[in-house]
Amino acid sequence: MFDWIAEQVRTAAMATLWPIYELMHDGSSRYFWLYCLTGLAIVAYVHSTRKGERRWQDIVFDRETWSGRSALNDYFILVMGSVLRLTILSWAYVSWKPIATWVASVLVGLGVSGTVTDQTAIGLGVLLTVSLFLVDDFLRWWIHLLMHRVPELWEYHKVHHSAEVLNFTTAERIHPVEVIITSLTMTLGMALVNGIFIAVAGRHLTPVTIFGANIFLFTFNVFGGVLRHSPYWVSFGPKVERWVISPAMHQIHHSDQERHFDKNMGGSLSVWDRWFGTIYIPAEHESIKFGIGEETKEFRTLKGIYFRPIVQSVEVLGRRLKAFGGSRPGTPARVS
Ligand SMILES: [Zn+2]
Ligand SMILES: [Zn+2]
Repeated sequence: MFDWIAEQVRTAAMATLWPIYELMHDGSSRYFWLYCLTGLAIVAYVHSTRKGERRWQDIVFDRETWSGRSALNDYFILVMGSVLRLTILSWAYVSWKPIATWVASVLVGLGVSGTVTDQTAIGLGVLLTVSLFLVDDFLRWWIHLLMHRVPELWEYHKVHHSAEVLNFTTAERIHPVEVIITSLTMTLGMALVNGIFIAVAGRHLTPVTIFGANIFLFTFNVFGGVLRHSPYWVSFGPKVERWVISPAMHQIHHSDQERHFDKNMGGSLSVWDRWFGTIYIPAEHESIKFGIGEETKEFRTLKGIYFRPIVQSVEVLGRRLKAFGGSRPGTPARVS
């Protein structure tokens, strides 16, 4: 028992440095150094095309954005997220590989089979890469939609929306319960796609990645993915925003104005929002206040961030059970 505790403490201490590793080496991290660099280059370029604004450095590196109370909470949640992930919540980070093997064996049992040849290897590899990206992006959109639509889940997702300023680390301002739900869903999606491809083509295919990130996700992140959580308005224009979520579109998602509620849930692509009616393409530069209105202040303490959502969610569930039937499906959690 003592050894186990000592091991957990050692791992927790090392985990506090994990965000730095991700910053330096992990292309699947949302704040990978290259994304930060290209994001700043995009801001500098966009700024050069605008007149009459403050210096872009003053907007992006505003003191409150990086060292205010909201930002300090972001940093704590970021580090604590790594600690929890590598210690007591490590069980939630199951490998997709054995599940993929099981999916493949079921499909083979149903008669699905195939192999890969020199002629089909490249095509199938690209198809695997596209499939993984699309399934991952759709599942992220769907989980995000549930977080907004199911009142019990909205209580946890409020943590992300309670950020009063957005900086590059706000992307990781997520309650552990939401992290677990998202992680397990993504694992299942990855296992399903890989399982299908293993059944059809064997185990020879690997997706195309750069710095460990799916090439499509890498491309999205290089073109300003990091700016979604920043105070700088960058729009791609309505034609591109029909397909891709721009930084401005995600900033709208964080707005505390009612017309922006429950819009733009997408991770990389905006097609899911467009097809399911939750898209909001800004016609012009809108000034936005981030947060969830009056309730924002409840999330300024660590107690409010970690424990309040659990209590509130259980209360909402209790009320639902009492009411015998609960809220109507599709009712936005925010107004219920
Ligand atoms: Zn949201
Ligand atoms: Zn966000």
